[in-house]
Amino acid sequence: MKIVVATHNEGKLVEIRAILAERLGGRADGIELVSAGSLGLPDPVETGVTFEANALLKARFVALRTGLPAIADDSGLIVDVMGNAPGILSARWSGEHGNDEANNRLLLAQIEDIPDDDRTARFRCAAALVAPVADSDAAGDGDGLVDARETVVLGEMAGTIVRAPHGANGFGYDPIFMPDDQPADAVASGELLTSAQMTPEQKNAISHRGKALRALVPAIEALL
Ligand code: IMP
Repeated sequence: MKIVVATHNEGKLVEIRAILAERLGGRADGIELVSAGSLGLPDPVETGVTFEANALLKARFVALRTGLPAIADDSGLIVDVMGNAPGILSARWSGEHGNDEANNRLLLAQIEDIPDDDRTARFRCAAALVAPVADSDAAGDGDGLVDARETVVLGEMAGTIVRAPHGANGFGYDPIFMPDDQPADAVASGELLTSAQMTPEQKNAISHRGKALRALVPAIEALL
């Protein structure tokens, strides 16, 4: 079965493939993931005001254009003292979309005077699956239109905003975010890591995206 992932980032397919293999074993071989980018589909404008709405919007956009089941995710950083900002504006917090360094610099300056204990934050990810189903099988209302089965789930990674960037892995706010969940050797040494200092495997095991995608597996499995 073919599933389209609503992304232009082929790395996301690798992460989803690994999670499907981990959860479904050999049955994952029956799932072929392709990216919306490789099919020449553009990104839709993200007009949703929640992560869930944007994940659904992206998955619907792809499912409608391909007639295939589509997976999408949407995520961002929520800083408690900032009233849950930057939230859905995470990618363009400093004004320029995708300028990670400027986003980090601005956010650190905004909470410069906030004491360590109050610098709590979390990443949140919504993952959606939209699976078109033939009208007669689903709603059964005989209107000839394609209906869709929609699932959206959330995953979170809690942590703290540190005072300066550390680490070169990951992307976005990883250099200034220290997850509460730490590798055992980091805890033992007392040298806690930002998510940019973790290996991809360490981060994937605890990340908001990993959790949301794992929570989506039963809905994907139901399509097999
Ligand atoms: P997206 O929806 O996954 O593209 O994420 C939107 C924005 O949220 C990114 O551009 C980053 O600024 C931030 N973000 C989301 N997930 C992460 C993460 O795992 N680490 C660091 N930043 C993230």
